[in-house]
Amino acid sequence: MRRTRITVDYELCGDGVGVDPRACGRCLRTCEPAVFLLHQTIGALEEDPFDPTRWRVTPFWPSLCDRCRQCVSVCPRGAIEVRPKVRQQPRPAVSADA
Ligand code: SF4
Ligand code: SF4
Repeated sequence: MRRTRITVDYELCGDGVGVDPRACGRCLRTCEPAVFLLHQTIGALEEDPFDPTRWRVTPFWPSLCDRCRQCVSVCPRGAIEVRPKVRQQPRPAVSADA
């Protein structure tokens, strides 16, 4: 399984400062393995169902991603990044010798 890091810039989409993801939803529609989830910001109550400040798309299942980059291509705000997840290098062993 390829490990992929997918990020959404919430200053460009969601949280009421960018595109309303419910109105756009291009990433949701184009992603064949359905990596993204449209949801309310955790903890928010939906007092006004048309309030755009409380919604996000989150790459909830990145392990399903095949890195086709279709979501990157269709996003009108350039809010999505897809890249291989870098594995942490193990720390070098420390010798106790003097
Ligand atoms: S790169 Fe392709 S598979 Fe991965 S999240 Fe974007 S559209 Fe989905
Ligand atoms: S395609 Fe871009 S702007 Fe549209 S909902 Fe997805 S992240 Fe937001």
